[in-house]
Amino acid sequence: MNRFRSRSTFIAFVAITSIAMLVSIAPAQESDWSAGLSAVKITPERPVPLAGYAARIKPSESVDQDIYATALALKDAQDHRAVLVTLDLCTMPANVGRAMRDRIMEKTRLDSAHVVLSVSHSHSAPVVSLASSDGTPTPNIEYTKWLIERASEAAEQAIAKLAPAKLSWGWGVADFVMNRRQFTDRGIILGVNPLGSVDRTVPVLRIDSADGKLRGVLFGYACHNTTNSSRSLAVSGDYAGYAKVYVRQQFPDAIPLFMMGCGGDANPYPRDGDQGSQPNVKYAPIHGEELGKEVCRVLGTKLQPVRGPLNCAEETSQLPLETPDETALEKLTKTGDSLIKPMAQQMLDMLKRGQTLNKSHAAPVCVWQFGKDLTVVQLPDEVVSGYARDVADAVGPLRLWVAAYCNQVTGYIPTRTILREGGYESRGLYDGIGWFSAGVEEMLTNVARDTAIKAGRDAYKSEGTKR
Ligand SMILES: [Zn+2]
Repeated sequence: MNRFRSRSTFIAFVAITSIAMLVSIAPAQESDWSAGLSAVKITPERPVPLAGYAARIKPSESVDQDIYATALALKDAQDHRAVLVTLDLCTMPANVGRAMRDRIMEKTRLDSAHVVLSVSHSHSAPVVSLASSDGTPTPNIEYTKWLIERASEAAEQAIAKLAPAKLSWGWGVADFVMNRRQFTDRGIILGVNPLGSVDRTVPVLRIDSADGKLRGVLFGYACHNTTNSSRSLAVSGDYAGYAKVYVRQQFPDAIPLFMMGCGGDANPYPRDGDQGSQPNVKYAPIHGEELGKEVCRVLGTKLQPVRGPLNCAEETSQLPLETPDETALEKLTKTGDSLIKPMAQQMLDMLKRGQTLNKSHAAPVCVWQFGKDLTVVQLPDEVVSGYARDVADAVGPLRLWVAAYCNQVTGYIPTRTILREGGYESRGLYDGIGWFSAGVEEMLTNVARDTAIKAGRDAYKSEGTKR
């Protein structure tokens, strides 16, 4: 009896010790997460100026589809929290992006690296502006103030809905993205270049409840939301909005979110504008269905588990701008192309008033590192497709998702090659004054790498070509 008791005590001791060891050495699980999702409508309640196409002079006349601020809140086993708010919008001036993030930080008590905005760059969405002097020709201040509140409500609601979840990820491919830098006798125009670079990846993050029901899906694509032409005066999320509608039709209980990739030099193909400038919406639902179908196909495959912990880092890069002297600017006001001429004149006027030209453009770079399983790099502004490869080269291509159009959308960030070639994407800032110098590519890539390392990515292990 004694012997039996002592043996059972020993077995119990071994069992307890084993459990304790299991607890202390157990690797993070994909089920160690909590997630919360919410979608808040940001469709304007009255006609507003639409952003993106300079040719548009009239405000919105109708609503083709509602637009949303859609939020994903995450919490890991150590209570690290973060919230992503994706927006069916076109641009995001730096001061508005900052004000929106500050409002969300105030409401959620998260710090800046843990609050990220993602802008879909829909050209059928309202102008966003808090001041007429920020370079936006048609301010839309009342809408913008309302928008900031709606976006912060979305973040707050997502955090309030945090519930046990499992995360996993994978990627697919969609084919309607097209490099738009067409070489012609007149120089590089906004057209169709089948030889040019694009990123056709469709990254997919799957969010399941603890019992395995799909609750949300975050997906990306690196392509301008410019399927609808400038003749259309209807509010819409463009192809990304239609892709979300498609996913929602297949999974009515799940909330889809779209995060734009490095598509600064990429348009959908074809576009409504390619077909004789018809004002009606034709191709956006077709592209949206193609993207949505691919997202759903990926959801049906065996995805890779995404475990914690979640580490978020943010660094502000100071991207170098050209600072030409008066003689060079005088020359550009006469010989520059139609994009450079007015900016050169503005810069010349500044110098004549005794002001100095900006030497750099502040651009926040965020990285969310999910354990050893996934790195999400969130670049700002209209980053062109070459950066998807640059960042993969800098940090290694595996378990990597490179997004752009995050936190601010204030101008094009070109590569060294695009700066040499010229064309629309070399034009610089539309939400400020200046254009980039050749060091921009190396600097942004280096800041992305450093921020990824700060967030915990082991950037120096390139493990072959499989993702
Ligand atoms: Zn653009």
